[in-house]
Amino acid sequence: MRWLYRCPACGAEYPIEKGRYLCGPCADRRGPGAPIAGVLECAWEGEPAAGDFLDAKYSIPLPVEARFFPPIPVGDTPLWAPARLREETGFPGLFIKDDTCEPTGSFKDRASYLVAAFANKHGISEIALASTGNAASSMAGVGAAAGLKITVFLPANAPVAKRVQVLQYGAELHQVDGNYDQAIQESRAYSDRTGTLSRNTAYNPLTIEGKKTVSFEIAKQLAEADMRAADRETDQGLAEQSSAPSGAWRAPDEVFVPVGDGVIIAGVYKGFEDLVKLGRIPRMPRIWACQAEGSSAIARALLSGGAWETVAATTIADSISVDLPSNGSQALSKLQRHGGRAVTVSDAQMLAAQRLLASKAGLFAEPSSSAALAGFLKAKAQIAKDAIVVLLVTGSGLKDIKSAMKGLGLE
Ligand SMILES: *Cc1c(COP(=O)(O)O)cnc(C)c1O
Repeated sequence: MRWLYRCPACGAEYPIEKGRYLCGPCADRRGPGAPIAGVLECAWEGEPAAGDFLDAKYSIPLPVEARFFPPIPVGDTPLWAPARLREETGFPGLFIKDDTCEPTGSFKDRASYLVAAFANKHGISEIALASTGNAASSMAGVGAAAGLKITVFLPANAPVAKRVQVLQYGAELHQVDGNYDQAIQESRAYSDRTGTLSRNTAYNPLTIEGKKTVSFEIAKQLAEADMRAADRETDQGLAEQSSAPSGAWRAPDEVFVPVGDGVIIAGVYKGFEDLVKLGRIPRMPRIWACQAEGSSAIARALLSGGAWETVAATTIADSISVDLPSNGSQALSKLQRHGGRAVTVSDAQMLAAQRLLASKAGLFAEPSSSAALAGFLKAKAQIAKDAIVVLLVTGSGLKDIKSAMKGLGLE
């Protein structure tokens, strides 16, 4: 198979090479107050061969060969059935995709893994990025395993656990006197000045592509869950044979994704688009963008038919707190193309969902991740009771104890 970058806006094609980020002409046409324009997408052509896949289990086609990935177990996180939460919500087809189990405790590892592999392949020794906290701690950890120098720019209000992770992993930390959007500016200036590879989310298209791996895992794991259920029925004499033919994959009906910059949701879409293109699933699931009320640019753009409005983000969910989402344009166009939905939730709803997830499922998640459950609770009247619903739980609650304390009334 052949890999390239394609601009979703104008169709221009570029090689996947060092120093290539945005589609230049489209980036220059960025409108006032709009998110960065010209964000590129990885595209592939031709039939994949066995060697094009990251591994045999999920057969995920990626633009960097498997041998360049660093020695750290990213991905292949559990998809599981939270029985008590199923009962509580009345949805027997509810699943949790648990990315709190990633090596550094967040979904961001999926992107860092691919960016580190790209650096290995091209002999690049340093990666720089701005982050609200998780992307930095992730790149620092995955970079440590890969033997790369990692330089991070963090806003002063990043949760202390994420800062400590960065330092433990041995990365160079620049504390920015300002918010995340300012950290982006400083990291961009640093990369421009030094020629360092940027892992800024969305700006580097590999951050989007790396995140698609979750969709492959979900479709494979759902098929396996299906077969196990069918086997149990067969054992009990309820069914003659497995309902899923062996080798078949299964798309969920609904996926709830917490959204800040819109990179995770674009990656989730890309994964399901690839699965349809490969013929492994027949159709796309419906995807829900779950945003904090105080940081809801993408939800508002979807509802208004594409108008962007910069606001000062205010939410306790630091991982989804952005003034203007870096990948807003691409996330919005994917939501529009595939009939996606948006739902906004308050800080109180996220904190309540955080406690519900912890007390009913035994899973302690960040407030941002709890936005997926909070969004589902708000939207569930619009969902068929027998639907297969996946909540993407993106980060561990241990990363932000202060917010969790608020949820308990301890602060
Ligand atoms: C980054 C992050 C998100 C949001 O992802 P975006 O790509 O910014 O939309 C959600 N949850 C956690 C834990 C994160 O770290």
